[in-house]
Amino acid sequence: MTDKHEWLGTHTRAPDESLDGWARVCRAQAERNLAKWGPQDWETLGLAIAEETGELAQAILKCLHEGGPRDRIQEEAVDLGALCLQVLQGFSAPNSVISVRKDNQGHSSEKN
Ligand SMILES: [Mg+2]
Repeated sequence: MTDKHEWLGTHTRAPDESLDGWARVCRAQAERNLAKWGPQDWETLGLAIAEETGELAQAILKCLHEGGPRDRIQEEAVDLGALCLQVLQGFSAPNSVISVRKDNQGHSSEKN
């Protein structure tokens, strides 16, 4: 089992199907992203959101037309939801997330 699948465990559903249940799953994924990558600037997050949007669309199309797994749709939706939470986190603190960039060696620097 990969880290990506931790939230599913051996199940293909979140603990419950409510919006709150899925919000908790997305939040947990956002926290794992932050632990792994640290704060990311909006440009990086925006590009990641575009990538995950494509992956979600692909998972839906594969499920509907090629017999692809339904749980892949959940995984990609959680990936996308987590990234959207990361954009919103600290939204009112423009000197935090917006200004932090990482170079390709992972070093943080201020953008402003
Ligand atoms: Mg994905």
